[in-house]
Order: sequence, then C-alpha cells, then structure tokens
Amino acid sequence: MDVDRPVFSVEFFPPKDEAGETQLWQAIRRLEPLDPAFVSVTYGAGGSSRDRTVRTTARIASDTTLVPMAHLTAVSHSRAELRHVIGSYAAAGIRNVLAVRGDPPGDPLGEWVAHPDGLTYADELVTMVRSLGDFCVGVAAFPYGHPRSTDPDEDLARLVAKIRKGADFAITQLFLEPEGFLRLRDRLDAAGCHVPLLPGIMPLTTVRTLHRGPELSGAPLPPDLVARLERHADDPAAFRAAGMDATTDLCEKLLAEGVRGLHFYTLNRSPATIELVGRLGLAAAR
Ligand SMILES: Cc1cc2nc3c(=O)[nH]c(=O)nc-3n(C[C@H](O)[C@H](O)[C@H](O)COP(=O)(O)OP(=O)(O)OC[C@H]3O[C@@H](n4cnc5c(N)ncnc54)[C@H](O)[C@@H]3O)c2cc1C
Repeated sequence: MDVDRPVFSVEFFPPKDEAGETQLWQAIRRLEPLDPAFVSVTYGAGGSSRDRTVRTTARIASDTTLVPMAHLTAVSHSRAELRHVIGSYAAAGIRNVLAVRGDPPGDPLGEWVAHPDGLTYADELVTMVRSLGDFCVGVAAFPYGHPRSTDPDEDLARLVAKIRKGADFAITQLFLEPEGFLRLRDRLDAAGCHVPLLPGIMPLTTVRTLHRGPELSGAPLPPDLVARLERHADDPAAFRAAGMDATTDLCEKLLAEGVRGLHFYTLNRSPATIELVGRLGLAAAR
C-alpha cells in the first residue's frame, strides 16, 4: 500500500453453485474498475469448498487485473495437505495469503481438535507459509478479543506473536463502532508492532447484517446505533439508507484517525461496496 491516499480491499467467499458463481463474477467485474488494493477469497470448512477457493482465487489471478489474496485455515488439514494447498497457490501466481486457524466444522465454538499431523494455532501457519515461498502473509485480529479468549492481554500477546512470526498485516473481525479497533491499534503500536491493521467493514444493508455480524464476531451492538436503525426494521429501503449512512460514518471516523485501508466484507455482492467507495472517495487509489 505505497500510495498517498487510503485504499480499499474486498472479501468474497467461494460460490456453492452456478448461480452463486454468476453473482460472484458479476461483483468482481463491477468492482474491478474501482481498483481495490487486493481481493480476498475465504477458505471453507469442507473439501469441495476448499477446491473452489483455490479455483476462484486462481481465476482472479489469471482472468482479471486484480491482486488476489487466498485465505487458508489449519482446520482438519495435515501439514502435508497444507503444504500442497500453499503450493497450488504459488503455482497459480498467488502471492498473498491470509493465514487463519479456522473454526471446528459445525459449531464455531465447539472443541478444537487438531489434525494428528496438523497445526494448532495460526502462528504456526504463518511460519509454514513464510517458509514455503515469497508470500505476503496476513493474519486475523479481534478488536474485542477472540470469542474463545477470556484474557484480552493474552489475546493481544497471541496477535503480537503472529506478527513476530512474520505476518505483514492484519485484518480485523467486523465491528460497529471505532473505539475497539483504535484501542487495538494503539496497543499493537505500544507493543512495537507497526504492520498495517485493516478494519473489516460489513455494510449494514439489512436487519440481519446488524444482528448476525456482531453475534458471530463478539463485537458489541451500540445501543444508539440499534435505536437509529431499528425504527426502519419494517422498511427495507429506509433501513438500508440509514445503515449505509451509519457505515459511512464509521468509515469516515476510521479514515480521520489515519487508517490507510478499509477491508469490505461483500457477501459476494457489489452495490453496497461500490456506493461506500464512491462516498468515501476511495476509487482508483492503488
Ligand atoms: C479477517 C478474517 C478472515 C477470516 N477468514 C476465514 C476463512 O477464510 N475461513 C475460516 O474458516 N475462518 C476464517 N476466519 C475466522 C477464523 O478462522 C476464526 O475466527 C478462528 O477462530 C481464529 O482464527 P485465528 O487465525 O485468529 O486463530 P489463532 O490466532 O490461532 O487464535 C485462536 C485462539 O487461540 C488463542 N491462541 C493463539 N495462539 C495460542 C497459543 N500458542 N497458545 C494458546 N492459545 C493461543 C488465541 O488467543 C485465540 O483465542 C477469519 C477471521 C477474520 C477476522
């Protein structure tokens, strides 16, 4: 991100079927002219979805002008399998990898059982990806602590460990008010970690995005935001308009605090991200 203006990036998930594939590629083609800094593709829990991550990211590398980033998780993989996936990424020309641990399939908060010949924590995956090629490696960060963690200091220490093992940047879980993100950024800075921390932004387009995101991420739901949006709960268009205003406010506050890049969770749709990028003046900033 060697540019003098803030940039944006977007996240997709691998489509499940042909209709999903069409929707994803429509979103990719509409976002392409806005020149995001990179586009990432999440890594699923099962075999076929994992193959789709490799295929989708490889196609972005070969068929578009975009910079792809593939996610990779340690869950249910042996070390040999992980090395194989990393090799597939390299062969497809993918040089950016987001190394995350992943959650147990089914219940994200269920018991974590490492593969008998696998890895247990994301820091080990950072080390592996780094050892296998010239990759730019990102990791996950949690402004309100990882849902499994009971001790914020310990959680910060784990994030610092991932960065010390070679992570070049971190992307946060979604959140709805800037304070937790800014606190985490300050604490990383104080710990001597100066890599970019990109806020993960979920555009608030529906009642579901308001409630489901925080439920999964552990981020607090600010009562004033809920009051501001929920009066439109029965009017989807009015809710979307108010939600997009709230998301714009959050992004503006982050940019005013010197944030250099915003990472948008797109849910494989482009309109909300395109609108936000326009409102924030972030297009073609790479
Ligand atoms: C930006 C982003 C992208 C994501 N992409 C995906 C994806 O593509 N696919 C997917 O399945 N999931 C994805 N996730 C979800 C992620 O896999 C889960 O949140 C997972 O539970 C945590 O992953 P992590 O990499 O932070 O794990 P870790 O850094 O390993 O941390 C997991 C927990 O263990 C603790 N811990 C870490 N190291 C140690 C240690 N050495 N000893 C003891 N405790 C330790 C941490 O404090 C934390 O509580 C993503 C999350 C984010 C924020």
